[in-house]
Amino acid sequence: MEKISVKDARDESSIGSTCQLQGWVRTRRDSKAGFSFIEINDGSSQGNIQIIAEAALENYESEVRQLTAGCSISVEGEIKESGGRGQKTEMLAQKICVYGWADPETYPLQKKRHSMEKLREWAHLRPRTNTFGAVARVRNCICNSIHQFYQEQGFLYINTPVITASDCEGAGEMFQVTTMKLDEIAKQKIENLNYRFDFFDKPSYLTVSGQLEAETYACALGKVYTFGPTFRAENSNTSRHLAEFWMIEPEVAFADLNDNMDLAEKFLKRIFADALSKCSEDLEFFNERIDETKSLIERLSTIVESEFVRLPYTEAVEILLKADVKFDYAVEWGIDLQSEHERYLTEKHFEKPVILFDYPKTIKPFYMYCNDDDKTVRAMDVLVPGVGEIIGGSQREHRLDILESRMKDQDLDINDYWWYTDLRKYGTVPHAGFGLGLERAVQFVTSMSNIRDVIPFPRTPGNAEF
Ligand code: ATP
Ligand code: MN
Repeated sequence: MEKISVKDARDESSIGSTCQLQGWVRTRRDSKAGFSFIEINDGSSQGNIQIIAEAALENYESEVRQLTAGCSISVEGEIKESGGRGQKTEMLAQKICVYGWADPETYPLQKKRHSMEKLREWAHLRPRTNTFGAVARVRNCICNSIHQFYQEQGFLYINTPVITASDCEGAGEMFQVTTMKLDEIAKQKIENLNYRFDFFDKPSYLTVSGQLEAETYACALGKVYTFGPTFRAENSNTSRHLAEFWMIEPEVAFADLNDNMDLAEKFLKRIFADALSKCSEDLEFFNERIDETKSLIERLSTIVESEFVRLPYTEAVEILLKADVKFDYAVEWGIDLQSEHERYLTEKHFEKPVILFDYPKTIKPFYMYCNDDDKTVRAMDVLVPGVGEIIGGSQREHRLDILESRMKDQDLDINDYWWYTDLRKYGTVPHAGFGLGLERAVQFVTSMSNIRDVIPFPRTPGNAEF
């Protein structure tokens, strides 16, 4: 007998077919007339399908009437048109087999609503809930769009190393990777570690970004992108930071900051448009049940149609200085904008995505292209309502002398970056790129307020369970 998904079974086109469904019980209701309604879900769609189980089933009393939330079953039967509200089809069961029971005394996902915090403790079971099923489907849709978008435009997908000896941001906050035995070292009270005894012969870390390596491929192959895990040991317990997250980093040769902004805007719009068209049922769920103002779908649709604001940092500072709100952090030219400032701009002042660019060079890494004013660099951040910074990028400094003097300013050892400076010695070209945090994109598309709820198993300070 043909196995079909609940998603397909819910479609009118399946009416009349006899088939097999497999899934997990969400609810069971017994009617006085001597039959039961069982709702099952198999993850293929937000909605469940209703199974009608009649008393004539041989295991009706012994098993069907014992089914509770979480039990896994197989059902064979005929798909019928449904008279019920909000469903086009239902299945009249001819045979029901139980794969596994779920003791209602201990199964955590009972009908009542659980807090997001509680569900995080059950990260292994939360994908069985409506919310986390929907997050997983939307996240998958976004990943698929990302690859499609770049592949259609001739970008090459490259894989940059997860373990690296270079600190791309020059800002620390890296996880060290070592095969040295820390507890033995602690016992010996060694003062100067000799890295000759470590696996890579020098201090090595989990990558914070694949950008520098991606630049080497862009400066040979033109258009490339990475899509992989990145790690930051920042000890910030915010709703927008993870210690392990996924980043997409396109890098384009013969491109400047304007090209970079165009690419970022087109890219985000494509992700949002695909989510709207391919995950409409899940987005309606987020719109009604998760979004505070029930305006998610409207917001995404408007963004896909309208132009992002593009604003130099200096003008953003002027707007913030005139704003009639009290910020926790005072604003003046030269500061690194705080999340409250970014959110004021994108949520209150413009009420749409904003690309800020030309930041003070003192707050940005060495590799960003220096403007002629000698005060700013060609950096850009894309800010969106509800999330704040979703993309950070820049045109890269491709002039060797300026790059080297910037490295000196930031106390970096030029020798450590010999291969990076080689790109400027041999056939250097203007180039640009950015990084999109996948989880921030998923947050934006779902309205989920905490980033820990848009990745299957969040890694945060003090938490690496599962
Ligand atoms: P923030 O200021 O929000 O900490 P950042 O400026 O350190 O971010 P970038 O180095 O520009 O971030 O990284 C590029 C993108 O990666 C960011 O725009 C964001 O979408 C994402 N990102 C950065 N740090 C994290 C994190 N800890 N968890 C999840 N996503 C992150
Ligand atoms: Mn940034």
